Amino acid sequence: MLAAVLPGVDRALELVERPVPEPGPGTVRVRVQACGVCGSDLFLQKGGFGAEKLPVVPGHEAAGVVDALGEGVTGWVVGEQVALYYIDADPEGRWARAGREQLDPALKRMGVDVDGAFAEYVVRPAHTLIRPPAPIAPEELAVLTDAVATPYHALVRVARVQAGDTVLVLGIGGIGSNAVQLARSLGAHVVAASRGAGKLRLAQELGAAATVALGPGVDEAAALRAAAPDGYDVVVQCVGSPAVDALAVAVAGPGGRIVLIGAATEPFAVRSTDVIWRELSVLGSRGFTARDIAAVLRLHADGQVRVDHLVSAQRPLAEVNAAFDDLRAGRGLRSVLRPDRT
Ligand SMILES: [Zn+2]
Repeated sequence: MLAAVLPGVDRALELVERPVPEPGPGTVRVRVQACGVCGSDLFLQKGGFGAEKLPVVPGHEAAGVVDALGEGVTGWVVGEQVALYYIDADPEGRWARAGREQLDPALKRMGVDVDGAFAEYVVRPAHTLIRPPAPIAPEELAVLTDAVATPYHALVRVARVQAGDTVLVLGIGGIGSNAVQLARSLGAHVVAASRGAGKLRLAQELGAAATVALGPGVDEAAALRAAAPDGYDVVVQCVGSPAVDALAVAVAGPGGRIVLIGAATEPFAVRSTDVIWRELSVLGSRGFTARDIAAVLRLHADGQVRVDHLVSAQRPLAEVNAAFDDLRAGRGLRSVLRPDRT
C-alpha cells in the first residue's frame, strides 16, 4: 500500500510502499477513504509533539470502510462506513470511564504516537471506530471528526454554552467557523471576529449575528466591546496567539468564560484583578472525545451543522506536500487527502 511518512522535523513527507497491515486481536483494518490535513499536522512537522515522535505516518481525522476484522472483534461488518477516533485510551481506565479519554496520560494518538491515516489502510483498535448515523460523503465524515468535534467539545463540555449566552468567536478558520454555527445551534447570540473580510462573510452565513473586523490600525478591544454592550458570556479563542489570548481576557464580560482552543507556546500576561473583579474563568479545551464525535455526527445528520464550506480541496495521497503548502499559505479551510483516489 501507499503511505506518506514524515521522516523528521521540518522535512517534506515521503511516499513509500508498505505491506498492507494485518489486524491483530481486538483491532480492525480500515480502508482509508478520506483524511483531513490540519494545523496539528503542521505542528507535528515543526517538531511540536517532539522530534522523537518521527518518523511517523501522520493523519488523525479520517473516514473509511471496514476492510478486515482481527480476532475477537464483533459488532462490525466488512464494507461498512466508519469514522476513526484518533485517540486510543484504555476503555476501562479512569479517564475513559469519566468520558474524558483525551486526558488519559497513557493515551496513544493516531498520526502522532502511532502511524495514522495518510495511507491506503490503517489498523485501529475496534473501540476507536464510530458508526455514522446515516451514509455520508467520506470527506465530510473526516472533517466532522476533528474540525467540528473540537469546537463542539469547547462549547458544550468546557464552556457549557447556554441558550441566550452572548458568544464571541475570535478567529474564523476551520475551527472558528464551526464554533460559530455550533454556538448558534445552541441558541447563543454569536459575534464573530477575524482579519479576513471573506471569513466574516462566511461567519454571517453560518449564523453570526454581528461581525468585527480585526487588524492593524483597529482598536480591537474597543471594537469588540462595542459589538456586545452587555458583555460576552463566552469568548472562544481559535487563533493560537498570545496577543489574542490577552485580547480574549480583556473583552470578556462579568462572569465570562474564556475558552482557549488555539494553542500557542508563548506565554500571555493576565492581571489577577481582571480575573477576580470580573470573576472570569480561563479554560483550556483539549481535543474531543468519542462521545463528542457521535454528537456532532447526529447534529450533521439532523441538518444542524453543515461542512460543505470546510472542504476546500480534495487531493490524492501523492499530493500530500501540496496540501501542507495550501494549509501553510492559508489557502482554504481544510484540504482532505483521498487515499482511495489516484
Ligand atoms: Zn486535526
